[in-house]
Amino acid sequence: MTPETLEAPSKQAEDLNPFHIAMAQFDSALRYLPELDPGMVEFLKRPDRLITVEFPIETHSGEVLNFVGYRAIHNRVRGPGKGGIRYHPGVTADEVLALASWMTWKCAVVDVPFGGAKGGVVCNPKNLTTSDLRKITRRFIAELGETIGPHTDIPAPDVNTNAETMAWIYDTYQMMHPGENNLPVVTGKPLDIGGSLGRNEATARGALFCTQRALELGVVPGRNSVKDATVVIQGFGNAGAIAAQEFTDAGAKVVAVSDSKGGIYREAGVDPKAAKEYKRKTGSVVGLSGTRTVSNAELLTLPCDILIPAALENEIRSDNAGDVSTHLVVEAANGPTTPAADRILIERGIPVLPDILANAGGVTVSYFEWVQNIENEQWDLDTVNTKLRRKMNTATDAVIETQRKINESLGKIGAERKARNLGDGAKLEPVDLRTAAYILAVKRVARVTAARGIWP
Ligand code: NAD
Repeated sequence: MTPETLEAPSKQAEDLNPFHIAMAQFDSALRYLPELDPGMVEFLKRPDRLITVEFPIETHSGEVLNFVGYRAIHNRVRGPGKGGIRYHPGVTADEVLALASWMTWKCAVVDVPFGGAKGGVVCNPKNLTTSDLRKITRRFIAELGETIGPHTDIPAPDVNTNAETMAWIYDTYQMMHPGENNLPVVTGKPLDIGGSLGRNEATARGALFCTQRALELGVVPGRNSVKDATVVIQGFGNAGAIAAQEFTDAGAKVVAVSDSKGGIYREAGVDPKAAKEYKRKTGSVVGLSGTRTVSNAELLTLPCDILIPAALENEIRSDNAGDVSTHLVVEAANGPTTPAADRILIERGIPVLPDILANAGGVTVSYFEWVQNIENEQWDLDTVNTKLRRKMNTATDAVIETQRKINESLGKIGAERKARNLGDGAKLEPVDLRTAAYILAVKRVARVTAARGIWP
């Protein structure tokens, strides 16, 4: 007997591969779409392409380092690929593929004419200078060559990239394609280089609009507004720090925030401006005066009305979902909740506003930026925010309406599954908001696919 077989069998570990999770989420929605034929299903599920590039740069210290970068296109049936570029040591091909597929469904949910794409470079920006990051960006974009373009695939910011990175992307592409209007090749640019007013705040503001609408529509019984709601936010970057400000401005009380170094709690509320300034000076929110330090694990279980994961994937899992103590989860991050955690939250009656709806404000204002660039126009902030609110409200209404309609038709859908010999005949469970959002999105993409037909 080997020592391994003497050990007690451990609990089956949760599969945290983001691409497997994205596929599992798609499959969950598919149970409610028996009308889709298998060829269509396979086409909608699988990514179109994944490009892998490897390149060197000479760093500030004269050392030559090699980097791996990815750009994935999941689906471009509804329009050019759209999705951010992430710089992080944890970037993998499967993570980029997952993020690209979430972009396909997100663009369909919020109804902007884009497909799904995503990119990333495996690197640790904390160990690199601005000059190193500029070289990485330029070389990565040059390596991607003709695969990105204003009408084919349009990058944007994501984790550890920002407006400055987008300016380098634009400049590199412009150097390679002189004499054309290349502003729409990338969004999230600085205002002086064709950026849109309100783009920097769009992800967080969109999450607030979505939350407000969902509460008005009764997603959390007994709470119809964010006013006086206690809010906990994990992640204090573009999505998280601005969400802290937006929710505070809307009358909520943000009691805890965190970054990769840890979290802070203050019962009377954390001042988002003070936290931002403190992080700017020290590199972290941890240690802000008047606050108690909490671990990131503890932060996710603090009692609150609204919990906003705004960092990375797989933060709410089977091992901690039972301890989450909130009335609503609003996914500002992509993929923060695993399928096993989703099931636990459903059982506990905690609704989740899913990433493909809740954080769609970013891509929505990216779309507005793209339109402004094509028209050589700049819209004022009121116009951007009014249009953003309209898009987020319409998308939130559509997801909640889809959930209602599907849950009223479970018998009919089950009968159709049986008639088509699909699956195990098990009774269909009512859908949560994530599955409803997927159903809405998959239907929209499938309709366009069918209308366009297969080329040639
Ligand atoms: P960012 O780089 O600006 O900020 C990330 C933040 O998360 C940082 O404060 C970092 O310290 C923190 N963080 C990292 N690991 C953490 C951990 N384990 N615990 C707690 N905090 C941690 O990135 P961002 O643009 O704000 O993106 C955050 C999430 O929002 C990602 O999932 C991203 O895909 C998603 N998102 C971003 C946008 C956008 O427009 N920027 C749009 C849609 C979705």
